[in-house]
Amino acid sequence: MTDERDPRSSELADGLAATARRIAAAATAAGRDPAEIGLLVVTKYFPADDVVRLLRLGVREFGESREPEAGRKTAAVRARVDVDFAVDMIGRVQRKKAGGIARWARRVHSVDSLPLIEAFDGASARALEAGDRDRTLGLLLQVSLDGDPERGGLAPAELAPAAERVLASPDTLSLDGLMAMAPLGADPDEAMERLARIRADFLRRFPHAVELSAGMSGDLEAAIAHGSTCVRVGTAIMGTRPIVSL
Ligand SMILES: *Cc1c(COP(=O)(O)O)cnc(C)c1O
Repeated sequence: MTDERDPRSSELADGLAATARRIAAAATAAGRDPAEIGLLVVTKYFPADDVVRLLRLGVREFGESREPEAGRKTAAVRARVDVDFAVDMIGRVQRKKAGGIARWARRVHSVDSLPLIEAFDGASARALEAGDRDRTLGLLLQVSLDGDPERGGLAPAELAPAAERVLASPDTLSLDGLMAMAPLGADPDEAMERLARIRADFLRRFPHAVELSAGMSGDLEAAIAHGSTCVRVGTAIMGTRPIVSL
């Protein structure tokens, strides 16, 4: 797998290079420094072997969306490769899974309720106590841009109370910023512009919560134009996800 003739590694390297070019072009077009924009490579549904290949290609930040698969995969990779890397939880979270997630996630991007924040407060405390983590759990509040309960997210008016709740637990949690997904079928540019306005309001009240996790394979240009600091890219790097039944 270290072999550069490994076809899967070449495919991943090509996807990474193409994505880096898109990010750089979008940043330049927006008058931003490409270095301000982080890339999470979304490895959900792909095997630990692919994560190891990506680590060898220099990737150090990953996004996963399913627990407990993500925790198992992360542990398997850590046992095989002696480099530091971070994995963020980006998918919808069930409260009962908070304990597992707090053991491996650097940050959770998809926080959209007060009970979930409570759950992560307790889960982070236990993970810190057990030595499973050594720093606070970063939370990003997911903003709903369409009110669709299936896709999750808080209404704009619910953001401030949720942020206050996160800030009330500085020993276990940190308020990193906001996350959103463009509504299905919507014009991503309009959606991201709306997100940028919501974020500007939010930053006036919570000026340290500077992360904006927005943009995926299909709409990263629009997200970067409207202030994204972290794009979450799966398909454009990994290829089409295998179809699995849940
Ligand atoms: C799967 C997923 C992504 C990656 O989507 P692609 O279109 O494959 O780039 C990004 N964000 C979230 C929340 C996801 O679940």
